[in-house]
Amino acid sequence: MKNLLVVPLLLFSLLLMGFSHQPASAKKSTDIEIPVLLYHVVSHNPDPNNFYQYSVKEFEKQMVYLKENGYRTLTIKQYFNILDGKAAMPAKPILLTFDDNSSDFYPNVYPILDKYDLKATQFTVSNWVNGSWNMTAEEITTVMDNGVDIQNHTVTHPFLNQMSYAQQYTEINDATVALKSLTGKTANVFAYPYGAYNADTISVLENLGFEGAFTVAGGLSTDEGSRFEIPRIMILNGDTLEDFARKITTGY
Ligand SMILES: [Zn+2]
Repeated sequence: MKNLLVVPLLLFSLLLMGFSHQPASAKKSTDIEIPVLLYHVVSHNPDPNNFYQYSVKEFEKQMVYLKENGYRTLTIKQYFNILDGKAAMPAKPILLTFDDNSSDFYPNVYPILDKYDLKATQFTVSNWVNGSWNMTAEEITTVMDNGVDIQNHTVTHPFLNQMSYAQQYTEINDATVALKSLTGKTANVFAYPYGAYNADTISVLENLGFEGAFTVAGGLSTDEGSRFEIPRIMILNGDTLEDFARKITTGY
């Protein structure tokens, strides 16, 4: 008789605790919120006047912060599986992205990702492969074989919103073809150069079967927004570790 009473009492108190900590009215509409970070150049000597160059030393501190605070870096596939409800949301997921396949990535970023066993995505401009300030084809396939997803950032990095549908189609599809011949994989995720796009850009991506596309607008990504307007949080020159901690929590 005693045991029969304990169980319902326990359940009742658990229910009370649940309600008192999270009233139904304050519950968020979605439980899926994932910060997506955007880096460009990560350099030992960042130009203080260039927002898009970040310090290697500070970058490593950020990666250590992620490790020490239990963040889990995602592959691009894991990221979309979570948004699409095909995989459970892990505790503290985060997506690290880098744009423009710049030459600093291989010597500066990749060893740190490797050291802390972190996943990342590189949005690659296909005509810039082997370029004077970019990664070589061999460097790209090496990082790809070690946890970096190679995805589409057009052929020539244009302002897509100033182009016709046909021109945009060529920029995006030709990059897919070139990246496929380089990596052997189909890149089906996109990042808008300069964050610039219009309705035609989204139509091209949909017609080519892309899974999603990233902007440069700030905020946390959720499972409710458009898959073709996923916000990213830019990490900018001068951001401190406190800025970083705030950005990955609030999106700004
Ligand atoms: Zn870019």
